[in-house]
Amino acid sequence: MNRFSYMRANSVAEAVRLHALTDDAQFLAGGTNLVDLMRENVMQPAALIDITRLPLRGIAPTPDGGLRIGALVSNSALAWDARVRERYPMLAQAILAGASAQIRNAATVGGNLLQRTRCLYFYDPASSCNKRAPGSGCAALDGVNRMHAIFGASEHCIATHPSDMCVALAALDASVQIAGRDGARVLPFDSLHRLPGDTPHRETALAEEALITAIDLPAEGYAQHCTYLKVRDRQSYAFALVSVALGLRVEDGMIRALGCALGGVAHKPWRDREAEALLIGGAAHDTRTHARFAGMIVARADPRPGNAFKVELARRAIVRAFERALAAQSAQSAQDAEEDEA
Ligand code: SF4
Repeated sequence: MNRFSYMRANSVAEAVRLHALTDDAQFLAGGTNLVDLMRENVMQPAALIDITRLPLRGIAPTPDGGLRIGALVSNSALAWDARVRERYPMLAQAILAGASAQIRNAATVGGNLLQRTRCLYFYDPASSCNKRAPGSGCAALDGVNRMHAIFGASEHCIATHPSDMCVALAALDASVQIAGRDGARVLPFDSLHRLPGDTPHRETALAEEALITAIDLPAEGYAQHCTYLKVRDRQSYAFALVSVALGLRVEDGMIRALGCALGGVAHKPWRDREAEALLIGGAAHDTRTHARFAGMIVARADPRPGNAFKVELARRAIVRAFERALAAQSAQSAQDAEEDEA
């Protein structure tokens, strides 16, 4: 591990100021991904700015009926919060489907949003990787790419975003509160993560010194009809091959609103709003419509030979998610989360 300087911020403004003053600095909160990357010499920041003492650990109602989650709330605290379990069970399920209990206790919500891909070549400094070393190439294109993207990739990078929580936040249409040199601003969750294009090392729309301070959940949590379905190689402590976060608002048997995001398939949680729009006003239990929706989404996939299986897997997972969401009630969803945890 390289030498680095360490500073502790006592306010959000100080954190942003210290970052802006320092070349190649990183904010340090739970450190569950950053410290690993530093140990492996994948990231070599010149400075760490410790933000763990900032007052960003609250979960509070917002005036519009939603919830504001401080960026330093731990993944565990969020998943087990009674309001989240009751009103946003899809989010609780997604969090509990990720990592291990120990990691969830240490990891923060803000850090979860900014975690890096788990592409093997990204972690191997001996391999070419445009994300780690811009311009060096992408070893995954013709290498082992079973876990890689089938949507939105480029010839420069086919990595996936590893988070489960982010998939649920995308489906919920959350928004992100950000503090920066120019003051505070709000970003729709969809706009936070970027597709790789020809700059895969630039993963978010955040300025270098910008600090995520909170995540806002809207009033609509799809509590009555939602699910987080994660398909993976083993039942715990594994990243998604494909995951689906699906929430539906159903009235009189008709779909009035929905959010559907896929994980494990793109550089960011993947939504197809054009396909979603076709479902609004349709019969909720029409399985042919679910199949057509799934088919429309995967028709846009562009897999590599090593991950072509994900196309059919995603199609089936979407259809299965509809079955689960339409069978679910909020209490059942919370129960599912506990069983996943066990
Ligand atoms: Fe690097 Fe992206 Fe290629 Fe993986 S897929 S080797 S992260 S450029």
